[in-house]
Amino acid sequence: MHKLMDAEITIIGAGVIGLAIAEKVSEEHKNIFLVEKHITFGQETSSRNSEVIHAGIYYTKDSLKSSLCLQGKKLLYDYCNKYGVPYNNCGKLIVATSEEEISILEGIRQTAINNGVDDLVVLDRDQISEMEPNVFAIRALFSPSTGIVDTHTLIKQYETNTINNGGQIAYGSEVTGIKRIKDGYEITLLDADKSNYSFTSRVVINSAGLTSDKISEMVGIHDDNLKIFFCKGEYFRINPPKNRLVGRLIYPVPHPNMEGIGIHVTIDMGGGVKLGPDVKYLESNIYDYKLTVSKQEAFYKSAKKFLPFLEFDDITPEMAGIRPKIQKPGEPQRDFYIEEESKRGYPGFINLIGIESPGLTSSISIAKYVNNLINYTI
Ligand SMILES: Cc1cc2nc3c(=O)[nH]c(=O)nc-3n(C[C@H](O)[C@H](O)[C@H](O)COP(=O)(O)OP(=O)(O)OC[C@H]3O[C@@H](n4cnc5c(N)ncnc54)[C@H](O)[C@@H]3O)c2cc1C
Repeated sequence: MHKLMDAEITIIGAGVIGLAIAEKVSEEHKNIFLVEKHITFGQETSSRNSEVIHAGIYYTKDSLKSSLCLQGKKLLYDYCNKYGVPYNNCGKLIVATSEEEISILEGIRQTAINNGVDDLVVLDRDQISEMEPNVFAIRALFSPSTGIVDTHTLIKQYETNTINNGGQIAYGSEVTGIKRIKDGYEITLLDADKSNYSFTSRVVINSAGLTSDKISEMVGIHDDNLKIFFCKGEYFRINPPKNRLVGRLIYPVPHPNMEGIGIHVTIDMGGGVKLGPDVKYLESNIYDYKLTVSKQEAFYKSAKKFLPFLEFDDITPEMAGIRPKIQKPGEPQRDFYIEEESKRGYPGFINLIGIESPGLTSSISIAKYVNNLINYTI
């Protein structure tokens, strides 16, 4: 076993969350170490998502998801302006296509207002046609603060600032063990050459995404409430030239018994247009990113309701991502789990588990929240 220099704060995982935290904590603290098992950043959930800057419309009042999303979107737009990270504050329409859906739309508007999202605008049929002439809806809610961001450039900027602040990043290094010791933790790593390394760290931040429950178990926290269930979401793309027929994010009205918020339209910074993601819990926690061609009919039918121009052959399977859910299928939505684990006997160990959407939107506010937990601890 080789010995490495000891760290003050160690962050596990170089997704959008781990790197946002690394940037933030390296502004105030010295001797920061980030370890990532892949050879570069953002190889898992952070590069397999919709890249939407969410407004914070649907979340449960007073939840971390709600408050961190609201703070996070503002911080993210400011950050993108400061560092020139490409984004498009394109806005989003939630569209009702039947009378029955109009009352659900009103419920969404009320939830949004309760959550502090006070900029939603109700649009009638003519106003919708003016904004999006190729979309069918009889009523819509327009969210002007929703947008999209170039996630790769964003994470790269977090990485650059971390390094400029003096933080160290070890790619190709998998955490294989964490042991509680006096004044901190001993961490064991396996590198790409199959060599083992160990070092100590006063604070450990677990932002390991889909396997964050396993990292938490490594240190000794066994809690069935913190088990992750892989929940896959697949996307189809709208082929050119029809991708040019929408210019904003278009979401159907979510129905009360629906898991997720329905097959919606997202645009990306390169002009691509995606349908999705759908929601399917996997039977076991395996990295299954396979695309299901047979879902084409279901995607087409869902989107056809509000995209009348769409034909079956206009869409092609594009990609899949996996949500790290901590609620089992059919259970109510759970909040982000972000805790410093002193109460369980692990001071200085900070767990981030179940960081599904709106994790990207909230990355900077999550980083601030975690930094406060550290300052409270040390
Ligand atoms: C389909 C889908 C759509 C989404 N759309 C949106 C959206 O539009 N807007 C939004 O705000 N959010 C969205 N999200 C959520 C967002 O993508 C996530 O919240 C965010 O990417 C989580 O980032 P992370 O850093 O926690 O996880 P990850 O990106 O998964 O990073 C975790 C990292 O930890 C590393 N790691 C794991 N175990 C170890 C180990 N033992 N040793 C070393 N490294 C390890 C992994 O390799 C990985 O790089 C979406 C998610 C999905 C799945």
